[in-house]
Amino acid sequence: MAWDFRTDPQYQEKLDWAAQFVKEKVDPLDLAWPHLQYHPLTAQRRSVVLPLKQQVRDQGLWACHLGADLGGQGYGQLKLALLNEILGQSSWAPIVFGCQAPDTGNAEIIAHYGTEEQKAKYLQPLLDGELFSCYSMTEPHAGADPTEFTTTARKDGDEWVIDGWKFFSSNAQTAEFFIVMAYTDRDIGPYRGMSMFIVPRESDGLTIERNFALFNEASGEGSHALIHYDGVRVPSENLLGGEGQAFAVAQTRLGGGRVHHAMRTVGVAQRALDMMCERALSRTTKGQLLARKQMVQAMIADSWIDLQQFRLLVLRTAWLIDETKDYMKVRKDIAAIKVLTPRVLEGIARRAIQVHGALGLTRDMPLGGMLVGGIALGLADGPTEVHQQTVAKELLKLYQPADGIWPSAYLPPRREDAERALASLIEHEVGSL
Ligand SMILES: Cc1cc2nc3c(=O)[nH]c(=O)nc-3n(C[C@H](O)[C@H](O)[C@H](O)COP(=O)(O)OP(=O)(O)OC[C@H]3O[C@@H](n4cnc5c(N)ncnc54)[C@H](O)[C@@H]3O)c2cc1C
Repeated sequence: MAWDFRTDPQYQEKLDWAAQFVKEKVDPLDLAWPHLQYHPLTAQRRSVVLPLKQQVRDQGLWACHLGADLGGQGYGQLKLALLNEILGQSSWAPIVFGCQAPDTGNAEIIAHYGTEEQKAKYLQPLLDGELFSCYSMTEPHAGADPTEFTTTARKDGDEWVIDGWKFFSSNAQTAEFFIVMAYTDRDIGPYRGMSMFIVPRESDGLTIERNFALFNEASGEGSHALIHYDGVRVPSENLLGGEGQAFAVAQTRLGGGRVHHAMRTVGVAQRALDMMCERALSRTTKGQLLARKQMVQAMIADSWIDLQQFRLLVLRTAWLIDETKDYMKVRKDIAAIKVLTPRVLEGIARRAIQVHGALGLTRDMPLGGMLVGGIALGLADGPTEVHQQTVAKELLKLYQPADGIWPSAYLPPRREDAERALASLIEHEVGSL
């Protein structure tokens, strides 16, 4: 029986350090330089951010998503989950701790599928926090269903020539390279006919046509790009993984990414709950604190209950990944937390806004951003409905259809079976009355 909900004291000390460090040293970056975390550092920002990164390294908390062989700490997903809960509370914190999306997932696939040359050229600077990357898979006409993609890569001598459009490629504007999914052989269908490529930013024919802003961002601050790959040529060694391996690469990329989003979301939702409680204890109406109103109490209680259920499922999924070392074996659990991530964050942020009244809706409070973040997480890395299907499909594999027309729980035949099995005792009881 190895059930234990305690964090080992040594790691707890590190978590306590991280919580204080984020509050005191990293939160000010969110306020001074909002939306700039994915931009290359200017001399001024470098002078502030690099010493903070060094402090994180000194604490042994740099790039905790990676194994020690790749310059990370090798703590595993469970410890990462506990750290990410803290880092999720600040938009700069993942950058300062070297574990920001989408670079974590991109680093993971280069580490897993990349050649030694690719690792030296792209992975090492990514791990050092010196550059940003972009994952370019969704297309304008198709997102949830990759089999509808139309971007192609055609072999021409020692080069691949990529043609197509990609949509909502996050951080394209500051990325040094793009990981692009394209058909290399349409005749054998999408599952074996698509491949992944590393495309350097300076490639001829790569044009960012537009940066879309989410509705809590000012236009001009958007970071989700519509990209035209128009006869973009890359050398053959820029194929990432084998030809036809795009789906396997994408699963590795998205499995980790989804879990990390969920871990950070625990922290965001906790922050919304903290704000809700503070407001309830600070605001009076009809001569009574909001905290005394039963309907406000219900909002607080439901938020805490939702968050605790979600957190336990995230931690258990992280533990399962550590146990199995295989995202595919934990597919159902990852899909389940992917479904819960937007649901829990939207619910708690929505209630926190309600408890704050009109102020909660303004740009002078962070709650609107949290609510939009929740909605976005119901789409990013695949829409909720697709993950619900995965949970159901995986679950149904554990069951068999009933024999005959009646469900196996139908009582009359079961009762008859039980009576037959216990006949001698039942007769004896009747006889002894
Ligand atoms: C904040 C954010 C960041 C993103 N970053 C990236 C990125 O860096 N790189 C990248 O490539 N993409 C990125 N995306 C795109 C994301 O992967 C897609 O939005 C997602 O896969 C859904 O595709 P879509 O938007 O085309 O919606 P569609 O595929 O058109 O789906 C629309 C809706 O249809 C319904 N639906 C779809 N399929 C099913 C189904 N099988 N069963 C039932 N209902 C269904 C769902 O309600 C779904 O929301 C990002 C998205 C967001 C919101």
